[in-house]
Amino acid sequence: MSLFDGFRKKNKEHSSIMSKEQLIETPVSLDNSPNDEQLNDIFIPQNEEKTFKQTCPKCGATIVHTGRQFYEVSKSNQHIKEKLLSEGHDLFTSQCPKCGLVASFSYPVQYIDLEKELNIYLMPVGHPDEKNFFDNGAILDSHPGFTTRLVADVDALVDKIRVFEEGLDDRVVEVCKVLKWGDLCETKPEYANANCYYQWFLSPENHKEYDNFIAYGYEMNGKRDSIIIELPSDFYEGIKQFFKPAFLQMQMGLFEEVDKSWAYEAIDLIKQLNNSNANK
Ligand SMILES: [Zn+2]
Repeated sequence: MSLFDGFRKKNKEHSSIMSKEQLIETPVSLDNSPNDEQLNDIFIPQNEEKTFKQTCPKCGATIVHTGRQFYEVSKSNQHIKEKLLSEGHDLFTSQCPKCGLVASFSYPVQYIDLEKELNIYLMPVGHPDEKNFFDNGAILDSHPGFTTRLVADVDALVDKIRVFEEGLDDRVVEVCKVLKWGDLCETKPEYANANCYYQWFLSPENHKEYDNFIAYGYEMNGKRDSIIIELPSDFYEGIKQFFKPAFLQMQMGLFEEVDKSWAYEAIDLIKQLNNSNANK
């Protein structure tokens, strides 16, 4: 039995907010470097840069992208984290040399923060290596005792890094996102399909205006943008207390994917628990 059974819904909808043109669904092909030949069951990210290629969906030219699949952050190299936080999604794009289309590349990435004791693995939904990851991912638990998480895309990776950077509990943050999103959609139904990221599009102006906020990312007319919702600390603390009984019952697997679906499970569970208490 896999450690991950049931943790990622098989046909989970990809939570990307990229436009169709930007989002290339076909799997990226790894260059046939000697390292790839040696792979047996699972791909273990290495430190060096790798080259990825894909065919431009607009003009058919080959788009080449160079990226890293392994990030290890320590006290002395915080710039790696800063680069990921500031550039985020842009680090995973390349422009078509012929027509200029900006294409996104999605590939597995491991992020380890030695100081924060974090081990986050980005496995894109539907990636050819996904099954191997779910079958053999335990091998990636290279730092026992670290908090492990699974994420589906780079926006979710940046979100997790920011949440843990602020010393917050990502389970609480995910529940807050769902609840605040519900409030937002009551008055602005056009945001119903927006994804939500903690402090997405973080800017100095945003920081001046709000202590703590959630940004709901959306795409309109081919542009990525966000709407900001305040996350007051008393709201966060209230949710943390209220959901304690549910969180205690929800088992956290290795590389648990704490996302919107996870938050809905927590909300269902707390309803059940409260109902059974009321019936006693
Ligand atoms: Zn092109």
